[in-house]
Amino acid sequence: MQKLQGIAVSPGVAVGEAFVLDNEGFRIPRRFVARDAVDSELDRLNRAFEETRAQTESHRDTVARELGPQYAAIFDAHLQMLGDARLRAELDESIRVRHYSPEYAVSRVLRRYARVFQSLESSFLAERSNDIVDIERRLLRVLLGKPREELSNLTSPVLILAYNLTPSETAALDRRFVMGFVTEIGGAAGHTAIVAEGMEIPAVVGTGPFLNDVSGGDLVIVDGNSGLVILQPDEETIARYRFEVEQERRRHEKLEELRDVPAETLDGTRIHLMGNIEFPSEAPHCLERAVDGIGLYRTEFLYLGSDAVPGEEDHYKAYADVVQAMQGRPVVIRTLDLGADKLWGGNGSQDSSPLGLRSIRLSLRNVPLFKTQLRALLRAAALGEVHIMFPLISSLHELRQAKMILADVVDDLVESGLPFSRNVKVGMMVEVPSAVIMLDQFVEEVDFLSIGTNDLIQYTLAVDRGNKDVADLYSSSDPALLRLIDMTIRAAERRNLPVSLCGQMSGSTTYTMLLLGLGLRCLSVPPSAVYEIKRVIRSVTVEQCRATAARALTMENARNIRNFLKEELKKVLPESHDDR
Ligand code: PEP
Ligand code: MG
Repeated sequence: MQKLQGIAVSPGVAVGEAFVLDNEGFRIPRRFVARDAVDSELDRLNRAFEETRAQTESHRDTVARELGPQYAAIFDAHLQMLGDARLRAELDESIRVRHYSPEYAVSRVLRRYARVFQSLESSFLAERSNDIVDIERRLLRVLLGKPREELSNLTSPVLILAYNLTPSETAALDRRFVMGFVTEIGGAAGHTAIVAEGMEIPAVVGTGPFLNDVSGGDLVIVDGNSGLVILQPDEETIARYRFEVEQERRRHEKLEELRDVPAETLDGTRIHLMGNIEFPSEAPHCLERAVDGIGLYRTEFLYLGSDAVPGEEDHYKAYADVVQAMQGRPVVIRTLDLGADKLWGGNGSQDSSPLGLRSIRLSLRNVPLFKTQLRALLRAAALGEVHIMFPLISSLHELRQAKMILADVVDDLVESGLPFSRNVKVGMMVEVPSAVIMLDQFVEEVDFLSIGTNDLIQYTLAVDRGNKDVADLYSSSDPALLRLIDMTIRAAERRNLPVSLCGQMSGSTTYTMLLLGLGLRCLSVPPSAVYEIKRVIRSVTVEQCRATAARALTMENARNIRNFLKEELKKVLPESHDDR
């Protein structure tokens, strides 16, 4: 049994068999071969060795020709390993005696060798472990064919253990079979994490390297509540977690009783609880939980997961589906927020820097793309209450440009004669510190604000939201963030402007009292968090929340604030589930 601590990003517990993808996306299977297939599997291994040898020789010759023989020497070393009789005998025996599949035997045996080299004192020999990993990859590539594809062809329930999953790969996971996932890299507020929560798949990210210690088919426990991952758990641990899964199911059942009661504090203040979605298919889940509307629809996911450029009709259909599913409730549709970790190949952003060409900047540089989206939005607005929201606004100039383009689109639509509505509220995300500083001006030019703490934390604290190495510095309880939220709410109040908060922070029960106490009356949360947040709302008075917020604002460090908020929550809701 081996335990790993990662970052819990999507709640829930899952116990199941591992489906392992290494950092090139190769699946490492555990597959035993039938007794009568042993000879043909040995042949397959033989052919894989021959093909790998041929490829390696060809690489060696190319490198020798283009760079010189000294650079080609490394491939000679690889060829030597491929020709090593002991290695082959060991692999053959694994297949013949233990009935391992060639893939499993290759990954098992070569990873063991790599580990031995890695642990050697000499850095020269330790480096050789990379060569062994390289050979393993090349053999697997030949044996397994194309990587990643199998992910979309799952036929039985698995837990995915991977070096990384991009937000679009996560979005494409088949919920019927993916019980949970763990990635070696990734941070608390990356979009992979957000999508996992949206899809309600238990997930842990940022564990650091462990894939060498696990094989496909091993039993694994993923605890998306605590961030713990247990490899090859013992019987007692399995029993304990199976019990926990059952408890969790019961807890959810109980929470469902909150469906039809209002999100109202003990002293009668009604809070608007909205849902965050990435896909139209999530809208019905929000409605099932009786939300007051959609507070954030991240439309960029229309692009992620497809290479083709979505046209106006694709946009329109997606928006129309959401608006109709919400049966008259308001839907805040955010314009494209591509870029950073949400990369898209087809003509969009390939700029992965959070400070680069992302979000509204990309839309303003690509006016035809932006107009296509805005046309579809205004057309969908004819079907229900649509609000348009611009992301990552950092200057008045950007906001004005975006609004001007929207006005142009209105003119175009008038000419086209297509049904549309110009009766839409236009708002902006507050997720860049410059926007908070300039809010007295912004509030004169928008109809509403929505605070995006995921980015606001990243840009205020200069901490990459998707990087596990600085995840401990990324905090929703930082005093600087609390002040920025407070400033935003005060600026909105002065103009009587609606303001909500749609960052992940709003879905964590730890912060509900703080946010209500600071004056928020609208929270937009992942659908999975709706009931938990409603339960807190129904257990507190506004007075209690105000006192909590006032005290938190006087405190100096994130850890103390967080502990204080957790204690306050325990006072009003002793059985509160300890969340992230
Ligand atoms: C945010 O930044 O808080 C937000 C809601 O937007 P996203 O997570 O999509 O960047
Ligand atoms: Mg954001």
